Parts: sequence; structure tokens; C-alpha cells
Amino acid sequence: MSTPRFATEQIHAGDLVDAGHGARIPPVHLTAGFRFQDFEEARARFAGEDDGYSYTRIGNPSIAALERRLAHLERGDEAIVVGSGQAAVSVALLALLQAGDHLVAAGHLYEGSRNLFTENFARFGIDVDFVDEPTSAEAWTRLVRPTTRAFFGESIANPTNQVLDVALVAEVAHAHGLPLVVDNTLATPYLLRPIEHGADVVVHSASKFLAGHGACLGGAVVVAGTADRYATGTGDRGYADFARHVIAARLGPTLSPMNAFLIQQGIETLSLRMRQHSANALVVAQWLERRPEVVSVDYAALPWHSSYPSARRYLPRGAGAVLAFTLAGGEPAARTVVEGVTVFSHMTHIGDVRSLILHPASTTHALRPQAEREAAGIGAGTLRLSVGVEDADDLLADLEAAFQRLPAAASRAASPAAPPALSVPAPLTVPAPGPARAVAVPVA
Ligand SMILES: *Cc1c(COP(=O)(O)O)cnc(C)c1O
Repeated sequence: MSTPRFATEQIHAGDLVDAGHGARIPPVHLTAGFRFQDFEEARARFAGEDDGYSYTRIGNPSIAALERRLAHLERGDEAIVVGSGQAAVSVALLALLQAGDHLVAAGHLYEGSRNLFTENFARFGIDVDFVDEPTSAEAWTRLVRPTTRAFFGESIANPTNQVLDVALVAEVAHAHGLPLVVDNTLATPYLLRPIEHGADVVVHSASKFLAGHGACLGGAVVVAGTADRYATGTGDRGYADFARHVIAARLGPTLSPMNAFLIQQGIETLSLRMRQHSANALVVAQWLERRPEVVSVDYAALPWHSSYPSARRYLPRGAGAVLAFTLAGGEPAARTVVEGVTVFSHMTHIGDVRSLILHPASTTHALRPQAEREAAGIGAGTLRLSVGVEDADDLLADLEAAFQRLPAAASRAASPAAPPALSVPAPLTVPAPGPARAVAVPVA
């Protein structure tokens, strides 16, 4: 057989025949531990002389099946699956950093990761600097210190859609002998494989698109063959072995085998969902930018987004589900829209088959001073959408009904205090189909 394409791999990669009963789907091994056959087997297993199972925090067949599939889809050598995306970011980086070390991270990040670095890592004596201009090699280089141990960024930043120039940042990292860790949650391996562009470690919140149905949490660390070249401080162990046995197994963020099963089921339809998410999100983004109540739309597939060139290069299959837009009417308008929608669910989550909506300034970003929030692109009128895979016409009708409740003054034409409109000639036109459109791409 020729090398299988993505849609085939997402269903078959890493499959092993179930040794017990030949079950076609990897069984859910809901067990804390595994019985040893005899005295010698227990001794050998603890000595690492055979690869059987002993205790689910160290390993479990349902978890291992998911690890094989994810490693393959991301083109890594190995994957370590953990209990949440936060745990994945923590494990990946704590296997590289210790007290006295320094991390350089892209300035636009998921708030949970940012707070992990500034509050928790600070308590461990780990310093973090944020790159304000992640598209510039010089901006990354400027922040490197003798104690720097890694670079970190998101392939598509949550929620404002800056697309990381993975190849450029990997090149700078490697020139300084450092590994690049990329959070690939928003893109998933269907839209982008950071390892193919030079990343050494990929992390995921599997709670989002991989699981895909909003039913469970999970996380993954995928390790490329190059990681050992740049990872320091792991003693005589390789990076993956150190991350698995010293960091993950001891800190203990173990994934439930039940959740491994749910995530594995989700991955089997990943390509179908990501294509539909991307197609729907583009339709919604184009609808939003034509509305007079909207002052800006942050979606990398739109030609005037600052990351459009990167999106064309890195995201030919589509720019994913998550976008942010800002209403001229500020917080009152945001409240009206959030309270006016019925198909969109008002909640903090992304990557669900259901469409979701959130007001970041009063929720995820509430702890940030207003000036910092504004600099991060989060205004009082900004809403984050995770566009689901429902029928796009129903999503537009839902937004239309909510927008109808906005006062007429809450539009950019009528509001003198409104921030500047999109920097495109009015009237706004629908962008010509480009490679960033994900509507009619082949399955591969
Ligand atoms: C949600 C998210 C995380 C954290 O994942 P959890 O599974 O919620 O712990 C990390 N990174 C990104 C980009 C996310 O969207």
C-alpha cells in the first residue's frame, strides 16, 4: 500500500490487534494496575527490562494506543498523553526548565499558559520573557540569555489568530542550541504539523479539537527525533524518557483511560471536522466583517489579517474554528450579542462540534490590566467564537438575530468613539478564494 493519507491514518495509525478478544476498537482498560504473573516479572518490570504494564500512572494500553496514533499524526517519534492541555504544557516545559533557567515565549498566548509562566513558573525560579513581535527573528534573538533553555509559541494563537512562523522561529532557536515547543491545539495535525517545519516538541489540549465533542479533558506532548539534540538537563535520559518517567509520572497528571478512548474516537473524524470548522469560520468571519456594528475581525484566513501571509504558507487547508471580533458598542454590545444568541453556547471552551461564544475581557482576560488587554487585541467589545460544524446558515441566522437587538448607534459609522475600522477600502468585499479557504480541498 502507498503511504496512507491523513483521513486513513487518523483511523488506522498505531492500531494493534487486541490481544485479549480481538476487539476492533482499543478496549477501555479502566484499571489502576496490572497483575504480575510471577515474582520475576514484577522485578523485571520495575527494572524497565520488559515493556509490560504495572500501574496506570506509568502506562496503560488505552493510553498507549492514543499515544501511538498522535505521535504518528504529528510525525513525532513518541507521544506522552496527560490529563489536560495545561498538564501537557507543564510537562513539556518542566522537562526542559529548572530553577535559574529562562524561557522565551511568543507574546500572544492562551491565557492559561501565560499565567502558568508568569505565576507558577516564577515560583519555581524560572524566568519568562514574551516576544512582542514574534514574526521578527531579531525580536526572538534579542531575548536569548545564557540561561535560556527553550522557545515556546502557539501555531495559531488563542484567540486573536497570530500564526507562528514555525520555520523561522525554529531556525533562531536551533542557531542558539535551543528546542522549539509549539502548542498546536488550534491547528491540529490536520491543518499544520509543526514538526515538519522544525519544531522539536508539540503540545496539545486534546480537550479541544482532538476530542472534538466537548465531553472530556486531555493533553499530549509529542516529541520529535530532534528533541534530544537541543534538550539539556535530562541527565543520561533522552527528552521523551525524562518527560514521561521523571516529570509526568512523578507530578502525576494521568489521563483517565476512559478519556483516552473518547479522544481516540474523536480523532477518527478530525479531518472531516476541521474542514467543516474552517469553512464555517470563514463564512462567519466574512459575514462579520461586512456588518457595520463590527470594527475588526481577527481571523488569519482574511487577507488583511497581519498573519494572512503565514496562513497561506502554513494553513493551506484552512485557518481553523477560532476567531475574535470586536463590536463598536463595547461591553454593552458584547453583552447584548452574548445574551441574544441561542445556537452558540455561552461558555469558556473551544474546539467543540457546537459553536461557542465568550467575552474574554470579563472572563479569561479579566485579570489583565486594561492597557495590557487592549495591547493583546482584547477590547471591551471583543468576543471570541469557536465556530462549530452546524449548518453555517443557522449560525449566521443566530448572529443576525442577536445583532438585531443592538441599538442603531452601536455601529462604527454612528459611533465617534469607535476604534478605527478595518484597514480595507469600504465597502468591504468578500475576499477572493485563496489557498487559505478550506471549502473544497481533497481529503489528503
Ligand atoms: C485550552 C488550551 C490549553 C489548555 O488546555 P486544557 O485542556 O484546558 O487544560 C492550552 N493551550 C491552548 C492553546 C488552549 O486553547
